[in-house]
Amino acid sequence: MQTQENFLTAAEAIVFDIDYRKKITDSIANYETAFEKGLQQFSNLELARERAAFIKWKVLENLDKYLIEFEASVMRRGGKVIWAHDIETAQNEIGQIINRTHAKSVVKSKTMVGEEIGLNDFLRKKGVVVHETDLGEFIVDQANEPPFHIVTPAMHKSRSDIARLLNEKIGSSLDADAAEMSDDVRKELRDKFVKADIGITGANFLIADSGMVAITENEGNARLSFSFPKTHIVIAGIEKVIPTINDLDLFFPLLASYGTGQKLTTYNSIVGPKNIDDDGSVGEFIVMLIDNGRSNLLAQGEQRQALGCIKCGACLNVCPVFKNIGGHTYGTVYTGPIGAVTTPHTNGMNEFKHLSYASPLCGKCTDVCPVKIDLHNHLSRNRRDSVASGTAKSGEKIMWFTWKKMMLGRKTLNKGTSIKNFMLKQFFKTSWGERREFPKLSEKSFNQSWRERFGQ
Ligand code: SF4
Repeated sequence: MQTQENFLTAAEAIVFDIDYRKKITDSIANYETAFEKGLQQFSNLELARERAAFIKWKVLENLDKYLIEFEASVMRRGGKVIWAHDIETAQNEIGQIINRTHAKSVVKSKTMVGEEIGLNDFLRKKGVVVHETDLGEFIVDQANEPPFHIVTPAMHKSRSDIARLLNEKIGSSLDADAAEMSDDVRKELRDKFVKADIGITGANFLIADSGMVAITENEGNARLSFSFPKTHIVIAGIEKVIPTINDLDLFFPLLASYGTGQKLTTYNSIVGPKNIDDDGSVGEFIVMLIDNGRSNLLAQGEQRQALGCIKCGACLNVCPVFKNIGGHTYGTVYTGPIGAVTTPHTNGMNEFKHLSYASPLCGKCTDVCPVKIDLHNHLSRNRRDSVASGTAKSGEKIMWFTWKKMMLGRKTLNKGTSIKNFMLKQFFKTSWGERREFPKLSEKSFNQSWRERFGQ
């Protein structure tokens, strides 16, 4: 219950912060222009989406088979696969690698799974120096904040916010423009890649038949993160698997266009176990497959489709709720419509069911999704499931029981308006909020109006 209260308090604070909302609106407006342009590369966009949705459906229906095929392929190439059921297992396994390799520093590229397992805190508590190498992640890490958005972690910060932060942290000029600030961060990080003991990256796709990992990025930092260190750890959710390398022909452009409006992201790497290094030693390639509640979602006959998400962020950018309350308000790693669908299943229905109610069910998210996830209907299904799971508060149950009784009785429906207005106010007293005027019911009942109009 605590998270619901936090969510409502944070949402109320943010929707009245005009400056903050302007930054989000400006950032999304830039995205929309690029997005429209990016989509023009598809001669038949609908067919591309259908094909992507089909591949994802096929994978999810046979996930056990594809994961085992991926594991076998990685091992055949000389890599290692670790299965992590939960956060504790993932942290323990990473801790063991750190101990075994005596690692002192880690370079890390963008990974939302890393956020899920609290990787930075865990490593820093172990005394390991962690360098975020993605520009957006570097910024939010320096600000000691979680990512705001799954694709653009620092979208809530204006140029001057970032300039002030980088001035304080790495001595950038307060007047630096975006390109100069990127250069400063690049300089700050350059030797960290060379000196790091371990590189940790996420994965956009895990390729089952070849045991390779596809990583797509715009800055080249992921490529540097896995190229220099002796050990490369890939952390990825179990849903990231795709059948073959040929599927990238579809997924790379889809992810680029829906994520940032590009035809293709700048750097697209397909990486596997390393060959022999210059000094004659062989690098380590370890893929950690993280479940962390995904099996619970997979067990849902309908909502399991949400595991097909390619994390493009498009549904966040079109969502009227996300646009108004921003990413941090959710208090979860995955936000917006996709986070509201998945989090109640992965992290607990009772604690996170309120997210499925934070939507007008307008369907914009479903319309935009490149893999055709039926997001707004899944939000409805989550609401249904939360009621069926009996997690509703007793006051709410009593309210709906009474409501139903009243709505089913002609006598109560025809009762005077003042009593009905009073009852409504009692029912929705807290959830309606203080800022909205309560709607008044019509003076006449439906029955009365009907008789007057049709005389029956
Ligand atoms: S649910 Fe669809 S639109 Fe939303 S992030 Fe995932 S793939 Fe993109």
